[in-house]
Amino acid sequence: MKTAEIRSTFLDYFRSKGHAIVPSSSLVPASDPTLLFTNSGMVQFKNVFLGSEKPGYVRAADVQRCLRAGGKHNDLDAVGYTARHHTFFEMLGNWSFGDYFKRDAISYAWDLLTNVFKLPKDKLWVTVYHTDDEAYDIWHKEIGVAAEHIVRIGDNKGAPFASDNFWQMADTGPCGPCTEIFYDHGADIAGGPPGSPDEDGDRYIEIWNLVFMQFDRAPDGSLTPLPAPCVDTGMGLERLAAVLQHVHSNYEIDLFAHLIRVASALTQTNDLANKSLRVIADHIRACSFLIVDGVLPSNEGRGYVVRRIIRRALRHGWMLGVRGDFFWKMVSPLVEEMGEAYPELAAKQAFVEEALRIEEQRFGETLEHGMRVFDDIADKVGKIIPGEDAFRLYDTYGFPVDLTADIARERGLTVDMAGFEQAMKEQRERARGASRFEAKGLMPAELASHLKPTVFLGYESLLSQGSKVIGIV
Ligand code: ATP
Ligand code: MG
Ligand code: MG
Ligand code: MG
Repeated sequence: MKTAEIRSTFLDYFRSKGHAIVPSSSLVPASDPTLLFTNSGMVQFKNVFLGSEKPGYVRAADVQRCLRAGGKHNDLDAVGYTARHHTFFEMLGNWSFGDYFKRDAISYAWDLLTNVFKLPKDKLWVTVYHTDDEAYDIWHKEIGVAAEHIVRIGDNKGAPFASDNFWQMADTGPCGPCTEIFYDHGADIAGGPPGSPDEDGDRYIEIWNLVFMQFDRAPDGSLTPLPAPCVDTGMGLERLAAVLQHVHSNYEIDLFAHLIRVASALTQTNDLANKSLRVIADHIRACSFLIVDGVLPSNEGRGYVVRRIIRRALRHGWMLGVRGDFFWKMVSPLVEEMGEAYPELAAKQAFVEEALRIEEQRFGETLEHGMRVFDDIADKVGKIIPGEDAFRLYDTYGFPVDLTADIARERGLTVDMAGFEQAMKEQRERARGASRFEAKGLMPAELASHLKPTVFLGYESLLSQGSKVIGIV
């Protein structure tokens, strides 16, 4: 089943169960200073959960574009390393706002997966929050899932990809216990079932999370019950497509095949499973949709996230031997692949190409030189790139520190982040807040004037979200 058909089958199913079908919202949350990007389907409904907004329906479903490249949910460093993580992805979701709760949410999900999409039941596993006997009993006694395929999971203690059955959008806001559905891709793939010590493999892949939204978390960590218990679900479209198309990696589904082919032609790389091709295919989606949603490359806030992702993609192209510009040429195949589902992307194709081309040319001037400097540094240090060297790469060659860390990681090295921070601080003090980067960081005025401005959240706000974004002036 093609990706496009999966989207429509999902929406048709929930439409038939009385759900209003709503459009995807922007990657930039409308007016939510606590959140860098839309990281899940529920973001546009946050105020509905909190009770301050009444949408005129009590059930809804959609396909939401999401980004996990900053803030509480950040999968940037997993891209290229797992079969299942993207920065940009689409989330299929259904919601109940004070209407149905655990029983219906679970039976809709099971019915859709096993009767409509016809997934084999014996390949499915579920997790429940460790104290949630109600969800456990629904799965076991009513749906009939074998006890050996149900795992009780507590709170995540901080491991990035460990199962976590208490879902939160951010450090504050709506949250609650959840139950998740996993698909077993087979014994020839490394990885253990959810909750086991080797669960971070790609064998048992989480496909759907059903959250029972019950609380609003305050900044002090305390939980207040929501006005009404709600359901919030999210299923990764690409992960479901991988299952339905009988491939293991998300990067092998129909939607990615074309992008990977074009990337392989542009970089003259024959091995279609090459990690850098996957990173480039992931990053063109993230960067294009961010620009469509009004986030232009810059040196601060959201704009610095898009700049960092573009530069990571360009470095992967460089690694494959590309010495001219190439990345902006991926926009056209992306529009062919996704322009129908997202007309706003098709409408802004030329603009996105231009924004990427400008950024590509700007960084192209220093990338090669910076890579030589990196090699010299790597040759002379032991295992750790000193902070001041990472700062030199940042300041002189435009290498965001996470790019330096990414290159270092491939060679078994790390970056002294505290040292980098210190060098940044000293530089900020020298510059006394004068924004000497601003002029070279901004897009040309005529380009920028096409887009509505994005809100700059500030350095403090990024840090308070636990973001890995470092090095913002
Ligand atoms: P994982 O544990 O695999 O990192 P998650 O628990 O962080 O996923 P949720 O926050 O529960 O993910 O999001 C709901 C669904 O969205 C997941 O079940 C998965 O199908 C999908 N999803 C989450 N993160 C990604 C990603 N980075 N790329 C693609 N799909 C994703
Ligand atoms: Mg995750
Ligand atoms: Mg998970
Ligand atoms: Mg999850």
